Amino acid sequence: MIRTTALTKRYGAILAVDGVSLDVRAGDIYGFLGANGSGKTTTVRMILGLVLATSGEVQLLGQQMPKGGRTALPQVGALVEGPAAYGHLSGRANLALLDAMGQGGVRRTRTRRIDDVLEQVGLAEVGRRPVKAYSLGMRQRLGLGAALLRQPRLLVLDEPTNGLDPQGIREIRELLLHLHARGTTVFLSSHLLAEVEQLCTRVGVLDRGRLVLQEDLANLQAPTGRTVVHTPDHDRARALLDGRIEHRDGDRLVIRGADAAELNALLVADGVRVTELGPERRTLEQVVLAATDTATGQVGA
Ligand code: ATP
Repeated sequence: MIRTTALTKRYGAILAVDGVSLDVRAGDIYGFLGANGSGKTTTVRMILGLVLATSGEVQLLGQQMPKGGRTALPQVGALVEGPAAYGHLSGRANLALLDAMGQGGVRRTRTRRIDDVLEQVGLAEVGRRPVKAYSLGMRQRLGLGAALLRQPRLLVLDEPTNGLDPQGIREIRELLLHLHARGTTVFLSSHLLAEVEQLCTRVGVLDRGRLVLQEDLANLQAPTGRTVVHTPDHDRARALLDGRIEHRDGDRLVIRGADAAELNALLVADGVRVTELGPERRTLEQVVLAATDTATGQVGA
């Protein structure tokens, strides 16, 4: 869906994007993570052909960008740098205008497509109200609605939840999951680990312009081969598991070995009370910190 090869953008002395090779596959919800200023927006703009790369290549839906934009872009819905809309016009009128300006499809189906989109983004009730009366979350959903007018195969979204409250963030997340379930591939940039962890199937991490990690979330969060046990009887557990305990933090023990059932049986047979037990998995935060740490020699943002 999106494939970049050694994509690079230099602004004078600043290397904003440095040799980035992204691979976004059909069916992914791809989270493009990075601290502020790490080069996410510049990368997204190059993908869409809005900024010319200094070197490297972008393939968007199999088309070389920016040359193949005429073929690729009609199948892509994009939201970059927040939604732009005329405040005095209604949400519906704004969508009609964008559609007429070529963002959408044929005129014959316009009313139906706009109704559809307003319904999808949860603005059907307020579609006739002027946009200046909309909350930030409603405006953001209208921006997403505009990106959906073309019934895109791929959505490219730059920080789609920026500035939204938790409720607004949840609404956007649910909408994206719904669109994904209907077959849309989603590529979104974010600086919020939790957002990406809850929503995405694949993650790319940008650190000062360089891609330091790209992997399926399920692989990153696969069991580590250790088991976590919570017990108030840690002294007894320690005596029993002699040498297998790698780490203790209060009642929490990290034990070498992935066989949770065997461990549970062993502990319970010896009268050790177990309050919680399961395979250890790394959080996305731990993975990202480790990746940015290796890349920069210091703890990442
Ligand atoms: P944010 O989340 O803050 O938008 P980002 O990860 O999207 O950050 P970019 O906006 O891509 O990062 O910026 C990456 C680097 O390139 C920054 O150092 C920025 O100052 C620089 N930069 C971006 N656009 C330009 C430009 N038009 N001219 C000069 N420098 C630029």
